Amino acid sequence: MSPSDHAPPRLTLASGPGPMPAEALAALSLPLVHHTDPWFQQFYADQSQRLARLLSVPEPPVLVQAEAVVALEAAAASLVAPGDRVINIASGHYGRFFGLWLARHTDRVVTLSVRDDQVPDPRDLALLLQQYPDTTLVSMVHCETPSGTLLPIAELAAVARAAGALVLVDAVASVGGMPVSIVGDGLDVAVLGLHKCLAGPPGLTPVAISPAAWRKMAANPNAPRASILSLLDWQGADDTATPFPFTPSVLEVYALSGVLTAWEAEGTAAMIARHHRVATSTRAAAHHAGLTLFPADPATCCDAVTALRLPVGVDERSLRADIRARDGLWLAGGEGILKGAVLRIGHIGQGAVAEMAVQAVEAIVAALDRAAPDWRSRPLQVPEQASRQF
Ligand SMILES: *Cc1c(COP(=O)(O)O)cnc(C)c1O
Repeated sequence: MSPSDHAPPRLTLASGPGPMPAEALAALSLPLVHHTDPWFQQFYADQSQRLARLLSVPEPPVLVQAEAVVALEAAAASLVAPGDRVINIASGHYGRFFGLWLARHTDRVVTLSVRDDQVPDPRDLALLLQQYPDTTLVSMVHCETPSGTLLPIAELAAVARAAGALVLVDAVASVGGMPVSIVGDGLDVAVLGLHKCLAGPPGLTPVAISPAAWRKMAANPNAPRASILSLLDWQGADDTATPFPFTPSVLEVYALSGVLTAWEAEGTAAMIARHHRVATSTRAAAHHAGLTLFPADPATCCDAVTALRLPVGVDERSLRADIRARDGLWLAGGEGILKGAVLRIGHIGQGAVAEMAVQAVEAIVAALDRAAPDWRSRPLQVPEQASRQF
């Protein structure tokens, strides 16, 4: 630990969570109450309704009382019955994870694999669906934050739906920062994240669920019940007449109310435009500084993070520690097979501010100059692909 590690960083530009809006901090000072109190039940219902309006979905999303991975596991467990044929798009770290969660519930998981620096071609999904016409579910990640890529989910979802499959999307990192049209694109299950572009806390995860997906869960004898992984237990929890199955995360619900206030004040379109503007200027600054983007095609970059390749002999972890010690700035590193090789500037939520992201590029260049003065002439690291999953 360096001496500066004994205090929080001055600035976090990582992949979420990061600083929350003032409205969310203020909401946390509401008194902690018992969850059966009528005021709290109404408060919970109100936040659920506001969320439904902001997402333009007819039914309030279920609020999974845990971070996003729990909600993703819950979705896999609830939607997949033994023997179901499912197609998983393994587009990167989270896509591969999802394949593991699916495989716990059926032995008929078909994988559409793509290199981490690329995005899938919807035509390849169409071919796979022709080969496996009994597919009940297609799962995909929208924004693969570890790779910095954005998948064409509207096109992929259209192909899946045309084949009669349900569509499940990990939209944890995209909602609030990139356009997500849950009803328009026919997404049956969309798992959101509050702690990415929406700048909320990581302990509560909204999941938007279509009537067809609810029917599939209700018909699945193995769908979890009386469990942290149950979505069915929480169906209708926003109805003030229905008791909660167990104690919700009251403080996280308070913070959610503040997140929604900030979201409503800025507006979805303005928030998405802000993320796009900052991502565009960060990519331009990185390019200008001689850094190389990790995604092979810049047109496939997401607006949540700028993922950068590093020269041979430079480790992302020591570079970030150096930047934190010198500049008080905490960046994100690589995950899974990209650990050590890919460095990321997160420009999400309160961090989606152009000046901050440009500062990050300058800090990275200065740290590279310290670590390897000849870094510009070194070849770039090639992350190991496929030989190891995580
Ligand atoms: C952040 C993220 C998650 C959830 O991971 P956490 O451990 O809850 O942060 C899931 N999927 C994607 C694509 C993400 O970016």
